[in-house]
Amino acid sequence: MKHSNISIFVPHSGCRQLCAFCNQKTISSVESAPTADEVEKICAKALKHCKSPENTEIAFFGGSFTAIEHDYMISLLKAASKYVGEGKFSGIRISTRPDCINEEILSVLMAYNVSAIELGAQSLDDNVLSANLRGHNAECIESAVDMIKWYGFEVGLQLMVGLYKSTLEIELENMKRVIELKPDTVRIYPVAVLKGTHLAQLYEKGEYKLFDFQTAVDICALMLVEFEKYGIKVIKCGLHASETVESDLIAGFYHPAFREICESRIFRTKISAIANDIKENKVCIEVNPHDASKALGHLKSNVEYFAKQGIELCIKQNGEVPQGECHRI
Ligand code: SF4
Repeated sequence: MKHSNISIFVPHSGCRQLCAFCNQKTISSVESAPTADEVEKICAKALKHCKSPENTEIAFFGGSFTAIEHDYMISLLKAASKYVGEGKFSGIRISTRPDCINEEILSVLMAYNVSAIELGAQSLDDNVLSANLRGHNAECIESAVDMIKWYGFEVGLQLMVGLYKSTLEIELENMKRVIELKPDTVRIYPVAVLKGTHLAQLYEKGEYKLFDFQTAVDICALMLVEFEKYGIKVIKCGLHASETVESDLIAGFYHPAFREICESRIFRTKISAIANDIKENKVCIEVNPHDASKALGHLKSNVEYFAKQGIELCIKQNGEVPQGECHRI
């Protein structure tokens, strides 16, 4: 059964400073933080309509949850934890900054049924972290991951691809270091430069030059493949589609179907390997029905790509082909 979240946004709560890329109000479309009563109402309503609560977590996203005012944080956790347990939701997810994790906090989270902690890591390069005003270094991320694992929580890392001062080499090194850290999950967010952020100012002054869109897709596609290969689940690739993000977007790699574009790219690489092998002008492959649109490519981009090289692409669906694979016929 598919996992899902009851998402409750706590925008900018607990943030000690504003990171260069962040405009949480735009990303979450939420202006104010919820009260404990509101959290209870959201959970009660969601539980009533939830078909599979045992596969659903209550998720506090958006700010630095473990750095918000202590009594307020406890009030939110108390309200949510009433809805966790037998016949209710499976746990609580929170997202926070790596420098807002310590043993005391982890003990509190454990007492209130928190099951998963996602860290906004963004990069594991100290220069990139500093240039993007994160206020912590890579060592801080690594020790927070170790501590969270030691306490037995599920750990997730959020990565941002294409930040100010990042390079292709840095992104590849980030990928390698994330694999070494072995988080349970990863969210990959290619940079979206939003109005009102420090990145927007740097971009407008010409100081921040972004990768081109295709390079961002190539990096994220490679991360998808490599993380999954090492058993790290990629629960998000690309910012979720939103009208507010679209209206505040200045530059960057936002696309409502970003993950699909990356997955199409992965299939293109697999089909290219087959095409190179047979050296014919028609390539026939079979894929699992779940992968048919990825093999065709976003808006049939793979069909067009091969057609431009004089190769006709013929795709058949076969439920016996494992998902993610592509067999020559
Ligand atoms: S810590 Fe997270 S929520 Fe806070 S400003 Fe930075 S990116 Fe935004």
